[in-house]
Amino acid sequence: MGGLRVDLSGAEIRGDPGAAGDPPVFLPRQPAAPSLVALDIGGTLIKLVYTASCGGGATGGAELRFAKFERRKLQECIEFLRAQGLLRCNGSTTGSTKENTTLKATGGGAYKFADDFREKLGVCLDKLDEMDSVVSGANFLLQNIPGAAFTHMNGKRSSIDISPNNLFPYLLVNIGSGVSILKVTGNRKFERVTGTHFGGGTMFGLAKLLTGCKSYDEFLQLSQKGDNFVLDLIVKDICGELVCQKQGLSTSTLASSFGKVITSKKKLTDYRPEDLASTLLSAFTYNIAQISFLVASLLGLRRVFFGGSYIRGHKSTMENISYAIDFWSQSQMQAVFLQHEGYLGALGALMSYGDPVDKNMKLEEMKEEENTHESAAPADGISADEHNGGNIFPYLLVNIGSGVSMIEVIGNGKFERIIGSHLGGGTILGLARLLTGCSSYDEFLELSQRGDNLSVDLTVGDIYGEHGYPKIGLPASTTAASFGKVSSSRLSEYKVEDLAAALLNSFTYNIGQVFPDT
Ligand code: ADP
Repeated sequence: MGGLRVDLSGAEIRGDPGAAGDPPVFLPRQPAAPSLVALDIGGTLIKLVYTASCGGGATGGAELRFAKFERRKLQECIEFLRAQGLLRCNGSTTGSTKENTTLKATGGGAYKFADDFREKLGVCLDKLDEMDSVVSGANFLLQNIPGAAFTHMNGKRSSIDISPNNLFPYLLVNIGSGVSILKVTGNRKFERVTGTHFGGGTMFGLAKLLTGCKSYDEFLQLSQKGDNFVLDLIVKDICGELVCQKQGLSTSTLASSFGKVITSKKKLTDYRPEDLASTLLSAFTYNIAQISFLVASLLGLRRVFFGGSYIRGHKSTMENISYAIDFWSQSQMQAVFLQHEGYLGALGALMSYGDPVDKNMKLEEMKEEENTHESAAPADGISADEHNGGNIFPYLLVNIGSGVSMIEVIGNGKFERIIGSHLGGGTILGLARLLTGCSSYDEFLELSQRGDNLSVDLTVGDIYGEHGYPKIGLPASTTAASFGKVSSSRLSEYKVEDLAAALLNSFTYNIGQVFPDT
């Protein structure tokens, strides 16, 4: 296939960029037909981007349109493709029969569902690497769409103009079911530095179980009406106001998300879903922001772009990320958001129409591709300690209490608290109390021993199929998103042992990641 590609000259967002939803992007030079279509079939959502006539006749240009579907409702996506007439041509230059139709597709589902598309629709998926597509999508938005990048601080959205000479390098944090963190150094030049299984899938899975919400939007709306301080322990609760003043600590700093639950007699049903939702959103958002800040610091990057459907254009999510990055970096780093943040992979796949080489990658070929991420991984690439002449200093002490503190100890009685995390023992036990009804930490640990986290965790194999995602070294058994397989909002449908196992697993790994030296 070749020839057809998206003509980006003069591209602009239609309507108010700050408005809710996914406004189309006008492409004045793009022919109205044929339509070009690209899919990103992720762990939770299928994202679809396609060009369509905007009604101006043959010379009137076209627009990019956006649609998304839940992955478990693949059939709805297929119906949509049919109803819009998008299965007819899609860039095929030699005819319009379904047999020679090829759709550009990325995400794990492009591998897992390739046979379904071929057998049910006679359509071939041209499979593109997920990380490559996400980076191309981000670069496409940043280099071609005025107003696509913006900051959100102190209640204000401000577009930022980024000069093409000053774009690279940057950190891209894509928050989907799990989180991928990439260092981008140019067009199609990047390294996946690290990732976490503690992302949107985990938050939404826990949200269903704790609040009974049925949709992500319902969850976000609940969180807007809630008060996280009903469940969260703040610094003042632990130290008292006087100590805070003496130590120069802000009294309202989050010390332990869900930490108040452990000293309360309340059951899950005694809490308001709104407060639970607000606590969950701030717990996850600050954690992802913190990991992003740490990675950016290690790599010396000042600009961090956030993508993925987790953000969903939701103002308080963006405010919290911006505040956290600004606070920890002492205003040295900036969090930047992107219009159409959930469609980076699909946009990148769409931009690959017309590429000279057919990059329809087989999983075996992906294995052989250069695996650059290993050497750059700050979390995994730490060499064994060198012999230090019997001197134990300096060392890092990670103290996991209700929250977590990382302390650099440089000598007897000489230490400095470097950073802390609000996701600690208090959070695990608080959530364990709410989800399993256990009354002590020992009971929770005992429960977790008998459980199977895989009944609620989403694995790389669930997304990609039995071969996993070898290019970035993720076998099928790796957890992609803890609690990401939770589909029902009825807690009673899950075994308490399995929930306990998933909780213990997810939080311990998260602490290990925030504090990688441990
Ligand atoms: P993936 O490619 O892994 O599916 P996405 O970037 O699409 O990742 O993000 C999925 C995450 O976005 C979910 O885990 C959830 O946190 C959030 N989300 C946003 N909108 C929805 C929705 N309509 N349904 C479910 N989750 C949603």
